[in-house]
Amino acid sequence: MRKFTNITAPHGITTRKGGVSLGAFESMNTSFFGVDNPSHVFANIKRALNELGITSKTIVATQQVHSNKVLLIDSAFDFDTLKKIDTSDSDLSEYGLYVASETDGLMTSREDLVLMTFYADCVPLVYHDEESGYIATVHSGWKGTAHLMGQEVIKKFNHLGIPVTHLNIGIGHCAAVCCYEVDEPVIQAFRENFSNDQMTAFLIPKENGKYMMDLKQANVIALMKQGITLSQIEVNDDCTICNAEEFHSHRRTGYPRGSMSTFIAKK
Ligand SMILES: [Zn+2]
Repeated sequence: MRKFTNITAPHGITTRKGGVSLGAFESMNTSFFGVDNPSHVFANIKRALNELGITSKTIVATQQVHSNKVLLIDSAFDFDTLKKIDTSDSDLSEYGLYVASETDGLMTSREDLVLMTFYADCVPLVYHDEESGYIATVHSGWKGTAHLMGQEVIKKFNHLGIPVTHLNIGIGHCAAVCCYEVDEPVIQAFRENFSNDQMTAFLIPKENGKYMMDLKQANVIALMKQGITLSQIEVNDDCTICNAEEFHSHRRTGYPRGSMSTFIAKK
């Protein structure tokens, strides 16, 4: 489990360690969308929540499509608009587990919810504003990063009229610059929203015409473009691709593979 020191709400991002899943999913796989045994996945999620000391019993997870959609869940939110997952006769039988389709980010100020997003190389972002009580988590792969997905939560704060000066943000383990090679079509997508100067801060050109990309730094720049300062952001150093013992990585293994998750709650 990895945590951020600048975020005081109960939160964490799982690794591949400490679970009960087998084979390609070994051992901590938190995704119930794939072919892993659901009872193993639910046991893993319960273990993660216990380790983090999260007591809230309603989990809202994303079914991610590399979109820029952040779902704001307020007190009047209608849970019938979400898909309910059957967790009966599992370690999560006391929990409500809901899925937001075609959504890549979640945000709430409610005390009864756990927000959950999924990863295997893409960038996890975790947000917490102690003053307003809002928490959020966002999945930002290269597409999300190119389209400034990390900014969407900031825009929601702006829309709510809440200043973001007290907002803290964590950027978690993902494909890092040591291993994440990209080609021209990916670079092209970034040119839409990043200047040449900004792009030189997260790209290293290679002799083969490709680039090594620092997705974490690209997300830092995207957040700073929206008024966030460096002092508000904590960046984890780990690379999911080159540390096979610690992390699941889609780039390294393809399917079948496990997924890691971000969890954040207010209690
Ligand atoms: Zn690496």
